Amino acid sequence: MRGYRYLDHTATLQVDPQRCVGCGLCVTVCPHRLFALEGRALRVLDPDLCMECGACARNCPSGAIAVTPGVGCAAAILAGWVSRLLGRKAPTRCC
Ligand code: SF4
Ligand code: SF4
Repeated sequence: MRGYRYLDHTATLQVDPQRCVGCGLCVTVCPHRLFALEGRALRVLDPDLCMECGACARNCPSGAIAVTPGVGCAAAILAGWVSRLLGRKAPTRCC
């Protein structure tokens, strides 16, 4: 799914720079490489790449990231389609 873009300006991702302590965990866990650290300052490179998997928010030690997981998650949508085609129960989580 790398390179996948969701609808522009619809991702729920929000970062509070005042709470960020520059640990870099979000940079490590984001599957789409949305984040970069410049020194201890966090940059969000391209919010429209966010799939709302929630990994960054779950791993942020200071609560600096808020995202509503699954709202725009393409992986979950695709998994749901495939599950329905195969007559299986759709997964409740994608990542
Ligand atoms: S929710 Fe997932 S895809 Fe979006 S910024 Fe966080 S880790 Fe990356
Ligand atoms: S995980 Fe949280 S505290 Fe760490 S760099 Fe990312 S936003 Fe900042």
